[in-house]
Amino acid sequence: MHDIIPPNNRPPSEEGLKMISHCPVCHYSNTAIEAKIIEENDNAHLIYIKCRRCQSAVLALFSASGFGLSSIGIITDFDSQEIAKFKELSKVDSDDVLLVYQHLLKDEQLIETMSF
Ligand SMILES: [Zn+2]
Repeated sequence: MHDIIPPNNRPPSEEGLKMISHCPVCHYSNTAIEAKIIEENDNAHLIYIKCRRCQSAVLALFSASGFGLSSIGIITDFDSQEIAKFKELSKVDSDDVLLVYQHLLKDEQLIETMSF
């Protein structure tokens, strides 16, 4: 993980610049207080941006393909350290879901507690 300010040598797309320079929550421009590349490879960058004004954060994925540049972002209340931590955890797969389901079937008290 390292800061993207000053920017790296590859210019982001125009849409990417808009996302970085304008907070999607309070709509103020140039408000980034924290901007970090969480992960990157040849074609994609996962970037964390936190607004100085409202403290909202955006996790954005910028990727390049044969069709051009694209970006997708989500607003999050995680800080960049939490995102880096969860990124390292293993994925939840269908076996994990079934295991929880089977455990819940055996635990009648938990089901009663969860029922209203
Ligand atoms: Zn903001």
